[in-house]
Amino acid sequence: MSVEEKHATDLITVGYLCIGCPLGCRLEVDADTITNAVVEVRGYSCRRGKDYAIQEHTAPMRLVTTTVAVDAGLWARLPVRSRTPVPKDKVKAICKHLRSIRVTAPVASGAIIWVDDREPGIEIVASRAMPAR
Ligand code: SF4
Repeated sequence: MSVEEKHATDLITVGYLCIGCPLGCRLEVDADTITNAVVEVRGYSCRRGKDYAIQEHTAPMRLVTTTVAVDAGLWARLPVRSRTPVPKDKVKAICKHLRSIRVTAPVASGAIIWVDDREPGIEIVASRAMPAR
């Protein structure tokens, strides 16, 4: 994200790079400086880019990908990820919590590793199977 200019009409222009496909369109969002409401989006070549720019500006989401400790597994760490993208501002806290989690092998690919009770919809699953030692 880059803030490029501030208009006299209390709009701010913010730049984003669309990650929807390899074309990598450079997006510009004009937003109200007070409410942060999106007024206009430019630079997209398809609807996905426009939707991405609005989402990224108002409520950015990220997939969490990290590892957790494994007991009795073939390897010491199990790759995990969030089943769906989570709010960007929650990623740090989720990763911090996952550092305290230990699972015991064997673990099936896609097995639920952790569900956040405080944040409905945040579910961490195994990215791969982990056989026992
Ligand atoms: S706006 Fe559409 S064409 Fe451009 S990078 Fe995003 S997904 Fe690809």
